[in-house]
Amino acid sequence: MPIYEYQCDSCGVHFERRQSFSDNSTPSCPNGHAAVHRIYSVPGVVFKGSGWYVNDSRKSGAKSNSD
Ligand SMILES: [Zn+2]
Repeated sequence: MPIYEYQCDSCGVHFERRQSFSDNSTPSCPNGHAAVHRIYSVPGVVFKGSGWYVNDSRKSGAKSNSD
């Protein structure tokens, strides 16, 4: 059974619902709001903002051995 992700239009909370394919009912927000919309998760989506890139360039060779 797929898990759908929803977002509340009123308070903006994200929540998930496990629904069968035949169940097209829209759940309500856990906070009690009715204005929710389904978020379609797209494979390979790049989340904007936080750290979704490889940052493995450790500072090597930056030693200063002044002896
Ligand atoms: Zn809400």
